[in-house]
Amino acid sequence: MTQAPVDWNKFRKDYYRTVGATVIKALTTNGFQASYAESCDEAVKAVLALVPEGASVGVPGSVTIRELGLPEILASRGNLIIQHWDPSLQAENRAQRWTDELASDVFLTSSNAVTLAGELVNIDGTGNRVAGMAWANNRICFVVGINKVCRDVAGALQRIRDWSTPINGIRLGMDLPCIKAGFCVDCKAPQRACRAVSILERAPYGRDAHVILVGENLGY
Ligand code: SF4
Repeated sequence: MTQAPVDWNKFRKDYYRTVGATVIKALTTNGFQASYAESCDEAVKAVLALVPEGASVGVPGSVTIRELGLPEILASRGNLIIQHWDPSLQAENRAQRWTDELASDVFLTSSNAVTLAGELVNIDGTGNRVAGMAWANNRICFVVGINKVCRDVAGALQRIRDWSTPINGIRLGMDLPCIKAGFCVDCKAPQRACRAVSILERAPYGRDAHVILVGENLGY
């Protein structure tokens, strides 16, 4: 008698759901409108439901948002996508584009990490992304892969420095000590990528802040 094939991924998914429920509850307590998406497809549907047709959407540096194909999907629906990741953008116009991203109807980003206590933790080099997370004036929408869940703020900062930063550094062709070492060495290098640290302990006052936690690996 042949045995039915084992669905190895099921155990992962069951666990993700459990962790997800803990994080969603904590985020909700902290004033975020939080929901869990089982899959990338569900996450895309959840974002489409949060972005009004015709709305402008500011997308800062986020691999997660692009892995989900959201700029293209939203643009094909008629949304205006404002992003500085635009190869045709002249260097002298970049600062204005950063500002325009923040002023969009929806600021669509990920987070480098989310804690079990429902805090969003990020480190930026330029600061435009963390600025938008706290200061974008309209709807702020975070899409976060389950791989970014950390026990606490210390674990989140560790994750960002040992994992997100070197991988992003490789993506951007940067010369960072953590790329050579494989982990953060708290460098003093002039090209240090870690400059602006943000911890959102609660949703910023008066903001319409949403978090979609996805039960799949996304971004770095
Ligand atoms: S502090 Fe330096 S070595 Fe550490 S993650 Fe940031 S850029 Fe890399």
